[in-house]
Amino acid sequence: MAIVILGKTECPLCCEVIAAGQVTVAGQHFIQTPSHPLWRYSDAAMHYDCFQNWLHRKAFVEEYNRVIGQIVWGNGTQHRMHPDGTVTTTPVA
Ligand SMILES: [Zn+2]
Repeated sequence: MAIVILGKTECPLCCEVIAAGQVTVAGQHFIQTPSHPLWRYSDAAMHYDCFQNWLHRKAFVEEYNRVIGQIVWGNGTQHRMHPDGTVTTTPVA
């Protein structure tokens, strides 16, 4: 899971610091290959608004769901990312 230090961690999309009270999108390190074009974002926190306007948002969400969204966790749930970057935990039917 991305580590966020409010007032210190920079959003990789706008390069500005994430401040207290700002909504963020943050996932876990789901891309293992450093040469993957989205690798640096896979363990990063991003401003919610920056994420919404990000050119690669759709590809990021698709890759997250391809890698993470398919996993059935020990408690019988899956973690799916929605187009806005929010992640929900749902029981497998
Ligand atoms: Zn930002």
